Amino acid sequence: MKTYKETFNRSAGFTFLEITVILLVLLSLMATGIVGSRIYAERANEASCVVLQDVIRKVLISQANIGGQRLEPGIDYAQEPDFEERLGFLPVCPAVGGYSAIVGPNGELTVRCLEHAHGE
Ligand SMILES: [Zn+2]
Repeated sequence: MKTYKETFNRSAGFTFLEITVILLVLLSLMATGIVGSRIYAERANEASCVVLQDVIRKVLISQANIGGQRLEPGIDYAQEPDFEERLGFLPVCPAVGGYSAIVGPNGELTVRCLEHAHGE
């Protein structure tokens, strides 16, 4: 017959294998969290970048409509000196990049992020 002390001494503490498994699980969870948060931050930056592109596009088109002026093709309005004054703020991509706002040959104003290289 086993005594109380013998029964509980056997299960006291962890074996090397158990500790290894626990550490592996913890490390994989941490790695998943780090990778996930990095991807989340990138996607959030891209989302705010697209919102900024939309704001730039709307402001430039609205001002052209109100002023009765045509947006001339080939001019990069984001590089014009009065760009910040027009918008009331200087739009900067969260991933640290500027913008280009050019009317293409089809007459459509295209705002592009120089960092993300996508535009609307
Ligand atoms: Zn961007």
